[in-house]
Amino acid sequence: MRITVVGGGVIALLATVECALDGHRVTVVDQGPIPYSRATSFDQHRILRALHPADPAATGAALRAHRRWLDLEELFATRFYERVGALTMLPPAAADEGARLLTDAGGHARTLTTTALADRYPHLSLDGALAGVLEDEAGVLLAERVLAACVAWLKYQPGIDLVPHRPVAEVDGERGRVRFADGQILDADGVLVAVGPWARDLLPERVAKTLTLYRQSLLYCRVPAGQAAAWAATPAVPALGTRRGAWLIPPVAGTALKVTSAALCREVDAITDHRTPEEYQRELAAEFGDLLPGFSPAWVLGAKDCYYLSSADTGGPLVVTLGAAALAYAACGGSSFKFAPLIARSLADRVLGRTPAPTGLTALDTAPLDVSP
Ligand SMILES: Cc1cc2nc3c(=O)[nH]c(=O)nc-3n(C[C@H](O)[C@H](O)[C@H](O)COP(=O)(O)OP(=O)(O)OC[C@H]3O[C@@H](n4cnc5c(N)ncnc54)[C@H](O)[C@@H]3O)c2cc1C
Repeated sequence: MRITVVGGGVIALLATVECALDGHRVTVVDQGPIPYSRATSFDQHRILRALHPADPAATGAALRAHRRWLDLEELFATRFYERVGALTMLPPAAADEGARLLTDAGGHARTLTTTALADRYPHLSLDGALAGVLEDEAGVLLAERVLAACVAWLKYQPGIDLVPHRPVAEVDGERGRVRFADGQILDADGVLVAVGPWARDLLPERVAKTLTLYRQSLLYCRVPAGQAAAWAATPAVPALGTRRGAWLIPPVAGTALKVTSAALCREVDAITDHRTPEEYQRELAAEFGDLLPGFSPAWVLGAKDCYYLSSADTGGPLVVTLGAAALAYAACGGSSFKFAPLIARSLADRVLGRTPAPTGLTALDTAPLDVSP
């Protein structure tokens, strides 16, 4: 089949990999370069944590995604997954339950008490009333390297064209046609739209208005040389268990320590710039001053704001059918990077007219919302 993929983020590129593995011809078009530094997927890192408390299906899906990322490292002959594990801070009973959930799903996890946590991580001020779930099948995906590896592999696949700087203005889902901003037309047997936080610009108004745009601020930090060894043995911490929802990614593989908190994730009207307002930088620095002993604003190397869309109906991702020949990943939500191999397979199956492989993710395994004209 001839497929047009609109977007050059992790979902689009991995869906293209799936199509290429099955011998289909794909044209990938992006409004910017491929990869594009403004894409949500473009960052030093993203966390893969398998634990989804009280959600065995999503936990199982994340464990499958973990294995698929390892396969992709082999396929691309590149390393981009630092398996440093993940630590989630929870009340003790919930931590025990979480560790059990992971073990039942086929993963490896243990609960760490306050004392064990203080011994292992003296460079983190963790809440003494909480326990930690430390999981093994988890860690840090070096996101920019993932994108670069996809592009490097796809470039050499027959029938795959990567076309940068080609913004799409309209998708005709019945005809499998996209119209570019310059008026040119590209026809195909199927179209997959995966344009991350820009989806509202391309989708019909009745679905666009159900999508909420979020903007989140991140600080990138250098850790003092004296703490380097401690940080090298630190897992990703998707939940420090604080009231404001602080989380961090350790400085793996030459990257910076990245810190942020759910409190710095706010609803916005439009994608504008990626600069982090001074007040938010100060707020984050103050928050982490209480969480990282010795932390000072001198650690901060830089800051950045990123965007994502969530469906008001699902609270996360959303898949929509735009007609007989087009499908869109209308909302990526805040955790699509780690699931991207599963999402991409499912979307590729649908656009190729096959029964999609089950993912364990509700948004992917239920029938897409039909917004055909
Ligand atoms: C601060 C933050 C932290 C996150 N942390 C995690 C995490 O730890 N773990 C995790 O799993 N997930 C995380 N996520 C979510 C994850 O990063 C996203 O779900 C994922 O990267 C979305 O990828 P995408 O391919 O859908 O979109 P994108 O990466 O944004 O790609 C979309 C592409 O479409 C292109 N495009 C847009 N409009 C057009 C057009 N009209 N024509 C042509 N091309 C177009 C863009 O240029 C872009 O390249 C986080 C998100 C944020 C914001």
